[in-house]
Amino acid sequence: MAAEYTTETRTEEHSKLTAKICDKCGGRYAPNDDSPFALNLVHNFGVFFGYGSEFDNAVWSFDLCEPCLLDFVATFRQAPTGFAGEDFEEWAQARRTNTEIGGE
Ligand SMILES: [Zn+2]
Repeated sequence: MAAEYTTETRTEEHSKLTAKICDKCGGRYAPNDDSPFALNLVHNFGVFFGYGSEFDNAVWSFDLCEPCLLDFVATFRQAPTGFAGEDFEEWAQARRTNTEIGGE
């Protein structure tokens, strides 16, 4: 069996993630020479509201930058699962103190 081929040129468009925005503070994180892994500093969260919730069966998704996430976690009474490396209460207290306006 014989086959014939021709060459054709195609232009394709691809979406490429270039920045992430924190839904809380609005901070924009885009990789650059000083921070090549900036996209890793914004985290996505998903929440499913079950039956009986004010938001019954809704699904929320949002992004928080690491500073906003750490400020939030520092308000927890208990360490999140996986928190490692430091005493959580000591870390949380220091985080809350350092991020308060004017400090203590
Ligand atoms: Zn933020």
